[in-house]
This record gives sequence, C-alpha cells and structure tokens, in this order.
Amino acid sequence: MNQLELSCPVIGHFIGGKVVDTAGERYADVFNPALGEPCAKVTLASVDEVNAAVFAAQAAFPAWAATPPLARSRILFKYLQLCQQHTDEFAAMITREHGKTFSDAQGEVARGIEIVEFACGIPQLLKGEFTDQIARGIDAWSMRQPLGVVAGITPFNFPVMVPMWMFPVAIACGNTFVLKPSERDPSPSMLHARLLKEAGLPDGVFNVVQGDKVAVDALLDNRDVQAISFVGSTPIAEYIYARGSANGKRVQALGGAKNHMVVMPDADMDMAVDALIGAAYGSAGERCMAISVAVAIGDAGDKLVATLAERTAKLKIGEGMGAGMEMGPVVTQAARQRIERLIGEGVEQGATLVVDGRGHKVEGYENGFFVGGTLFDHVTPEMSIYQEEIFGPVLCVVRLPDVGSAVELINANEYGNGVAVFTRDGGVAREFVRQIQVGMVGVNVPLPVPMAFNSFGGWKRSMFGDHHAYGPEGVRFYTRHKAVMQRWPNTASSGVEFAFPQMK
Ligand code: NAD
Repeated sequence: MNQLELSCPVIGHFIGGKVVDTAGERYADVFNPALGEPCAKVTLASVDEVNAAVFAAQAAFPAWAATPPLARSRILFKYLQLCQQHTDEFAAMITREHGKTFSDAQGEVARGIEIVEFACGIPQLLKGEFTDQIARGIDAWSMRQPLGVVAGITPFNFPVMVPMWMFPVAIACGNTFVLKPSERDPSPSMLHARLLKEAGLPDGVFNVVQGDKVAVDALLDNRDVQAISFVGSTPIAEYIYARGSANGKRVQALGGAKNHMVVMPDADMDMAVDALIGAAYGSAGERCMAISVAVAIGDAGDKLVATLAERTAKLKIGEGMGAGMEMGPVVTQAARQRIERLIGEGVEQGATLVVDGRGHKVEGYENGFFVGGTLFDHVTPEMSIYQEEIFGPVLCVVRLPDVGSAVELINANEYGNGVAVFTRDGGVAREFVRQIQVGMVGVNVPLPVPMAFNSFGGWKRSMFGDHHAYGPEGVRFYTRHKAVMQRWPNTASSGVEFAFPQMK
C-alpha cells in the first residue's frame, strides 16, 4: 500500500542515527485500542532494510567497543536524565497504542528507567578477576568483552520496559544494538532512539527496525548478529531459540506464562483479595507476570470468591487517560475475540462463571476493544481456560485440599514464569519456595518481578536459553569471558616442556 492518508503519521525505522521513512511496500495499522481505530501506520521492514541496520551497527561496533566503560556510562547517565524528563511522553504513547491506564504506563517507564540506573554502573560490573603468580613469574586474569551486534525482538505488552531490559545493558557492555519492537505499539522505540542520540550516543550504536516476521527472520539469519534477546509468546520464543541457535547465535528467548497464586486458609484474606484484583486485572491481564489462576486451599475458596466477585464487578474500566481508571481495553479486536471465545469454552467445559466480562461497553468508546473483568470458580486442569495463556482480564479459581496438591499442580504446568503463596505460616512458605519449579516466586507478594540489579526469567516453557534478562545475568549474556595468562621475558625460562604444564 503506497497511498497513505496525510493525516495518519507513518512510523519509520531508525538506522545509523537517522529516521528512515521508507516508501516501502508494506505497512501495518497501529490502533488506539480504546477507540478501536487506527492512530498511525508503521513501516514493515524488508530484508534489505534489516541488513542495512545490522550493517550500520556493525560499522559502529569497533569504536564503541573501544570506548572506555566510564565514557559509555556517562552517555547513559545523560540518557537516564532525559528518560526521567520524558516519562509522561513515554507513558502517553503507551496508553495510546497499548491501551493500559496512564498510571500503569508511568509505572512501566519507571521500571525501565531502573535498568538504565543499573547499566550506569557498568565500569564496576565489567571488572574481571586477577590472580598474581599462578606459577613462577606468571599472572592470570579474566575479562569480559562485548559480542558485537546484538538484536532485541520485543512484545506489545511492555513497549517501553521490555526493550529497556535489553539495550541499556547491551550497549553499556560495548555492543551495538538493533531493536525490532512490536508492530502493535512501535512509537516509544523511536523516542528511545531520539533520546539516546540527544544523550550523545554515536550513530549506529542503537538502531530500530519496525516490522513483522520478515524482519525477525532477517535478524535470525544475518551472520553479523551475534546474539538475540527475545520476549514474547512461547511458540515464537521456541522458534527464535531454535533458528537463532542453529545459526550459531547466543539466544535468550522469554516466553508466555500461566501464573498461579496459592491462598492458604490462614492468609490475610483482605491482603490476598487486593493482591489478586491488582495482579489479575491490572493492565487488563496483559502481563507475563499477571496472576491468572488463584489456587484456594481448603475453606479459603468460599471467602475468596465472594469478595473477588464483588470487587471484579466494580472495576473502573475505560480509556486509559481517564481519571481513576483501573483497567483499559485489550490490545486488538482479535485479542478481544480470542478472550471471549475462551470464556465461552470455560462455560461449556463446566466451570462456574461468577462474573462475565463479555460484551463490555464503555460509553463514548463503543468501538473500543474492551473486555470486562471475568471470574471463574471451580476450574479444573483439563479445561482450556486453565491450559491456555488467556492474556486478558480473566481469573480462574481452582480449589484444592492442601498445599501439597497445589505444588503438584503448578509443577506439572508447562509454564514456570511467576508464582505466589499467601500465608501466615513461615514453614509452609519456606517449603513452597524450595519445592516449586518456577523462576520467580513471591511470598505474600503477587508479582515478584525482580529489580534491575537482580535478573528476570522463568523456567520450563517460559524461557528458552540459559541467561535470564538484565541484572548480572544480562551482563553475562551480552559479554564473552576471556582468560589471560602472561609471563615477561625477564623471568627465568623453565626450558622446553612436552608434558602438560602443571604447577611445581
Ligand atoms: P508475540 O510472540 O506475538 O510477538 C513478540 C514479537 O515476535 C513481536 O515483535 C512480533 O513482531 C514477533 N513475531 C510475532 N509472530 C512472529 C513469527 N511468526 N515469527 C517471527 N516473529 C514473530 O507476543 P505478543 O503478543 O507481542 O506479546 C505477548 C506475549 O509475550 C505473551 O505470551 C506474554 O506472556 C509474553 N511475554 C513474556 C514476557 C516474559 O518475560 N516471559 C514478558 C512480556 C510478555
């Protein structure tokens, strides 16, 4: 399509320090989900455009890798300041293209900024280890060096924060970066590019290519891309991991989730209900750490469901900029249809539909992609609402007799991203933490998202690859370890040795 309406902004790429607004062949609509109407068009990159971005990143790599870490960190400090100044601009973009409420979007930006704060400490983080005199006249040390061009492929649900899990750490380590953001909400990545340039980042160190599968495959197949960081759904994560690794790249691919929160009968029920309402319906359930299954133990179920039903029915749902809104729309019409289909399947398969969010309408936004908060009780593991990642405002209550059966259920689930237990019993919590096969665990904390200086990642089919995202794991992912030994000619030679060297 080449005939673009003049009123509709076109979001292009950012390659080698310049906005590239190609007259390409392919575009996609970017929707405002609250209005249910397109608010922009995004260019979808061709293979040549992706290769041009990788070429620009490759050309910038030697000088950037040779830039002292402290000088790199000073640019990141300036970028940090600019991000703080532009928080509301980022948040408004998120609300417009994603739909989440403005306060939730501000929280997303704040969590992204924390990764920049972490990355500013890169001179300290890159320090190696030195051992004096490993043998007579010989010293040894280790150092970490950047990989080269690395790429990030990111999902729609955190268009600011998830890219920031990746590029601040990657470029702080001395790599150059190509970001392929989600085509559903592409604008914030262009603001990152502008602010990084304003902070003094040399051209080519950070590039953005907009696009779809064509762009992703071009990155996976480009020989100059050394590593891929991916965050998105499990089937695509698995595909990225397989194709990227087969092409010899280092890959970390974070996938989908089905997060459980176990509520013991001794838990503080008010605290548990508050936690469930926020964690299940915040961001309309479109978070990889959202709680989508409440596991009620013993008689916790009756108390929990009664209060949850009352609160779920009263959620304030509307356009994300509206005052006091608790939940916005879901991202697309297709997402709404999929969520409503799954709610229908839950009913057909015998779950008790306590609050039905289907067909939710918001006055003044009748075409928006809204789904009301939905609550199911008596959900069992065979049902599709239990098995599938719904990624919408749907909370399923499963009732079980004891904590042992809860651990068994959760450990049998294919996903292992986040989990929580609510209890007043320290012994129960301790055993739960030790036995549960999930990457991130909360005790009376519903969304245990690690801070920037720890690392984020799930287990099982919630993550493919070895290194978790950001924090110390991020530094390891974006660098190679090198071991060095040195001896200088003024130390005595021990003569020719044919046997494998050993310390004497
Ligand atoms: P998605 O998998 O549809 O898309 C993610 C990225 O992959 C996008 O950039 C998209 O353009 C690209 N992509 C889509 N289809 C592709 C294909 N066939 N081939 C190659 N590339 C393709 O995910 P989404 O809908 O944008 O995001 C929601 C999903 O992300 C959920 O499953 C959620 O759990 C997951 N997520 C996981 C985490 C985590 O940390 N584990 C964090 C956020 C989101």
